[in-house]
Amino acid sequence: MKICRFDDNRLGLVEGDEVRDVTAALEVLPSHRYPLPTVDPMIANLGRLRQEIRRIAPSAPTLPLAGRRLLAPVANPGKVIAAPVNYRKHLEEAREDATIHFNNQVAEIQQIGLFLKANSSIVGAGHGVEIQHPDRRNDHEAELVLVIGKAGRNIPRERAFEHIAAYSGGLDMTVRGPQERSMRKSIDSYTVVGPWIVTADELKDPQALDFWLTVNGEPRQRANTRDLVLDIPTLIETASSYYTLQPGDLLFTGTPEGVARVVDGDVIVVEFEGIGRMEVDVRNATRSYA
Ligand code: MN
Repeated sequence: MKICRFDDNRLGLVEGDEVRDVTAALEVLPSHRYPLPTVDPMIANLGRLRQEIRRIAPSAPTLPLAGRRLLAPVANPGKVIAAPVNYRKHLEEAREDATIHFNNQVAEIQQIGLFLKANSSIVGAGHGVEIQHPDRRNDHEAELVLVIGKAGRNIPRERAFEHIAAYSGGLDMTVRGPQERSMRKSIDSYTVVGPWIVTADELKDPQALDFWLTVNGEPRQRANTRDLVLDIPTLIETASSYYTLQPGDLLFTGTPEGVARVVDGDVIVVEFEGIGRMEVDVRNATRSYA
């Protein structure tokens, strides 16, 4: 099942180039008062929600996908975990390019581990990326995103897939420079998730997925998830040995070679086999006090 969020917080079931408006299915989610839960309520109740979506879909209104404004498919993840330099060829290109590695900050993922991105940086494809420091190099990083479905800590790699509810595409947007990754990659709109989530039962082999990214039609990145340095089970095992994984948590699995700069006016297109394609506009952020 492909589930999107669109326009004014509508919930959609994606079918080809159409979307069924199944917002009414959200009624099955529990309502919350303060304090809010540390899970994403939609993902935490995904089984029940999917039943309701199936029940109401036949009579739900159908809209063309074109023209819909796609929002981040998971609205309230508890955390966003990300894997740095998790493709061998990206490690090589980073080591060769001083504008990427900054005094050889780049090391193997086995040594430096994972990092966190601020939840406030999450947007959907329809929002686009707002470049906050246009004088610096801002890069695209296409990445497969795991959506955690079941809570767990110290998850052994053999059990890893039991904890994944869904998959999505992502852009781990990055301003290059000497600062911590958590700062450079947490700028508002620098975590693009989309175009929607695909539930795990529908994605045949997440460990052999082709994906590619173009900027203004020019090919930049093309890779397959089989070339991950730390594969999906290892990422889950590693992450959960530090943080309890919660339903709705997102895990960005790392970007392959081909990272490059984007500037105001660019259009990024990124497509993941079996998931979908998203178009993301790039513009400069307004610099005024607000
Ligand atoms: Mn990345």
